[in-house]
Formats: sequence, structure tokens, C-alpha cells
Amino acid sequence: MSPLFPALAGDLPATADRPALRFGAHSLTYGQLAAAAGALAGRIRGADRVAVWATPTLETAVAVVAALLAGVPAVPLNPKSGESELGHIVKDSAPELILTTPGSDLPSTLDQLTRIDVDVHAPGENPPPTDLAPGHPALVVYTSGTTGPPKGAVIPRRAIAATLDALADAWQWTGDDVLVHALPLFHVHGLILGTLGPLRRGGSVRHLGRFDTAGVARELTEGATMLFGVPTMYHRLAEALPGEPALAAALGGARLLVSGSAALPVHDHERITAATGRRVIERYGMTETLMNTSVRADGEPRAGTVGVPLPGVELRLVEEDGTPVAAYDGETVGEIQVRGPNLFTEYLNRPDATAAAFTADGWFRTGDMAVRDPDGYVRIVGRKATDLIKSGGYKIGAGEIENALLEHPAVREAAVTGEPDDDLGERIVAWVVPGEQPHDTLAAELTRHVADRLAPHKRPRTVRFLGSLPRNDMGKIMKRALKDAHEDVAGHG
Ligand code: ATP
Ligand code: MG
Repeated sequence: MSPLFPALAGDLPATADRPALRFGAHSLTYGQLAAAAGALAGRIRGADRVAVWATPTLETAVAVVAALLAGVPAVPLNPKSGESELGHIVKDSAPELILTTPGSDLPSTLDQLTRIDVDVHAPGENPPPTDLAPGHPALVVYTSGTTGPPKGAVIPRRAIAATLDALADAWQWTGDDVLVHALPLFHVHGLILGTLGPLRRGGSVRHLGRFDTAGVARELTEGATMLFGVPTMYHRLAEALPGEPALAAALGGARLLVSGSAALPVHDHERITAATGRRVIERYGMTETLMNTSVRADGEPRAGTVGVPLPGVELRLVEEDGTPVAAYDGETVGEIQVRGPNLFTEYLNRPDATAAAFTADGWFRTGDMAVRDPDGYVRIVGRKATDLIKSGGYKIGAGEIENALLEHPAVREAAVTGEPDDDLGERIVAWVVPGEQPHDTLAAELTRHVADRLAPHKRPRTVRFLGSLPRNDMGKIMKRALKDAHEDVAGHG
């Protein structure tokens, strides 16, 4: 049969009766997906932009595929966003319609939008091929808001195709691949990689609704081949593994375990490998660039690194004075800059922010700092804005100190920031969620623990204990919020 989604999902080898998507108890074959999305595409064609109420449901997936087929840019909304954030996004992106799962309760901020409940069993046609330009906007995805208010990144069709083909090649996706999915559908990770990704080569997706280790074990035992997760999921798997041999066997049998969206702590990676015999493949990307780096399925993942640039992606490190880092020495820190077909077009309604984000010759400034090992593997040191601490004349990345802290048995979670210091410029502050009530000397013990593992200037000068770290819906630590919480927390040290 003809490809189901030309120019979107590639030349799918899948036939109409093969499984495409399953969310909980609801599923669609490729033929049913083409029919439902084709029918919906017919209803929304001609709109300027559509919002999608992105609950983790089949309806959301059908809505996004329909928008891609119709050539109408889709704006996925996080149903857990507060009214003010939703109000901002809707005002900023001005969609005419909102596509919803029947039964969803929408806040009154969205009252002015015309609502269409998605019917996943609507009879429709296998849609005709579209001949939209590669630069045509496919999605407007708001960034996670980790470092400031979310910005709407306009993502062209070209970027989706380029990123999925690069991943399909690197990770050797086939029509037999089945993904275990448990991520939200309003960010690049869960939507483009998790939902559209496997369809690119005729594979299928099983969404758990919400992450739980038993669900992962069950799906991997019942035919699923890959898991895409964020570090908090791998942390929970690492915690569960010692008592669950069935989980270890399930993970050990998976073809691909992939982590992204934030750094995977080395300690969690090592615990998973010890229990399952498997390495986790990390990949590094962002809303603005989709995927930049990873490791091939037949390559060698290295804990603490995000691999090498994907095919088609140009990546360089640039020092503060604007000079590109010439040689990979594993030490020289620079900002990651990226160029390639995977890039977004612009921040919606933010010409100044867009202009500031690119160099004159078209490199995108990611704001992420890294070093490269001599063989090219990229080690992310952290974000320029929050993770790079300038202390006593040294530039210190928060990540390696966090990794060292996490190796201590009393530390459950850790985040490291810099604070102004008269003597040092900035002092290193460790925020620690202890596994149990901290004893009196724990702060001093942790400082020593870090000093024993890393250079002396990398030891925290202050250790603060707290009940949990502020994280966003992708499990990313919101360091801004940590700094704001500063005044409320008792200090030690
Ligand atoms: P905002 O831009 O609104 O502050 P955000 O940067 O968290 O939010 P995203 O585009 O969802 O929004 O996230 C991209 C960022 O996530 C990257 O710039 C990088 O800092 C981080 N990141 C993604 N993957 C990895 C990884 N494998 N290791 C370390 N950091 C990662
Ligand atoms: Mg960002």
C-alpha cells in the first residue's frame, strides 16, 4: 500500500492492520490512525493555528498527526499549567481551535477557542500526500521554562523529519520496534521522539498513562523493545531494581534504554548497569534544536556523556571570547552551538530573543556548556545561566559535584548552585535531600566526601538540607526556584 504519511512519517513499511498507538486500553492500527487523523485534518484545514489539550491520550496523538497532515501548526498545551501560563501561551500563539479529548475539563481562560473533541474512530480517508515546503511550521512548542518564562519555538516540518531520520539511523529503528512511553505529550521528548518517532519506521507506541516501574517491566516482558525516559524515571528504576529480579530481566532484555531532557546521574546509570548488564543511551536535545547528540545503538555509551553529534548536526564549543575550541582535550569548557536541519525557525513573537539566539553565521547558541573527550564525546557541564560556578578563579560545573554527592549513601537527591561570595566571587552551595534525618555532622561529612573525589576547590562551602528539590513536569531541577527558596531554608556550614 502507499505510504500512510508521506513527508511526515517517511515511507512507512507498515500496513494498515499493524498496531500504531496504544494508550492504556485504547489502541489504533495504522489504518485507523490514518482514517481518524485524515478525517480530523479535513475539519481543521485552513485554520491558522490549533491548540491541542495535550493529555496523555490517543486523542492527543491523533490531533497532532491530523494537524501535521493538514499543514496547520499545532500548539500543545500542558493541562497542568496554571491559568496564567495558559493565558500567556494562548494570547501569544493565538490559535483559533482547540482539539481535546472528550470529557476534558478546560479552564475558562480557553473559553474563546472553538473546541473540537477528537473522535479516534471517525471514518476517514488515507490522506493524500501533502506538498508543504520543508520550512512550513509544524508545531509551536513552548520550552520547559527551566530558566525563565517558556518561549514558543516554531518548529518546521524539516526539523522533525531530520531529527527522526537521524535517530532512526543511529538507533536502528525498525517496524518491529515497540516503545514503552510514559512522558507528557506537550514537549519535544514525549511528542516528537516518543509519539511520532517510532511511527517513522513503522513501529508502534504503548503509553502507560503514567510512569510506574511495574508497567515498564510488564511492557518490556510483553514485546516492547525500547524505553525513552527522563533521569527521574531511571532513578526510580535504579531504586527499585535491587528487590525486583523480574524488572532487571525486563530491562536487561530491552533493545534500547534511552535517557534525555536532563543529565542522567552517573550513580543511577552505574546502578542500572550493575543490576541489568545494560548501558543507558543518553541523548541531548532541546525544544529549539530537537536532537543534537547521542550514541548509536551499536556504539558505546559512556556514563556522564551525551555521545556525539547525530548525522547532519554540526556542533562546536565556543569559548567566552567567541573563539571556537580547536582541540578536544576533555577540559576546555565552551558553549555548545549547533547548526543543521534540526533547528527551529524562531521564537514566536520574540524577534529580539530570536536574533540574540543565533550568531551571524547561523549557529544557535544553546546556553549549555560542555567539554569534549579526545574522541569527540560531549560532556555537558551545565547551563551557562545556572550551572557554571565561577569560584576562586575556577569555572566549575555543578554536574560533577552533584554526581559526587549522589554517590554518598545518605544523599537521595542533590543540586549545586553558586552564590555571591566576597572572597571567592561565588561560593559552591549544595542542596541535599537526605535519605533520612541528617545527623549533626553530615554537612561536614559531605563536604569531605566531595573533596576526597574532586579537586579541593570543588568542595561545597555550604550544605543545605531540604525535603525535596523543586522540579518541573519533566523532572528537571528548577535552580531558579532553589535560589528563591534560599531565605526560607536553614543553612549549615
Ligand atoms: P527553558 O529554555 O524555558 O529554560 P528548558 O531549557 O529546560 O527550559 P527544554 O528545551 O525542554 O527547555 O530543555 C532543553 C535543555 O535540557 C537543554 O538546553 C539542556 O540544558 C537540558 N538537557 C536536555 N537533554 C540533556 C541531557 N541529556 N543532559 C543534560 N542536559 C540535557
Ligand atoms: Mg532552554
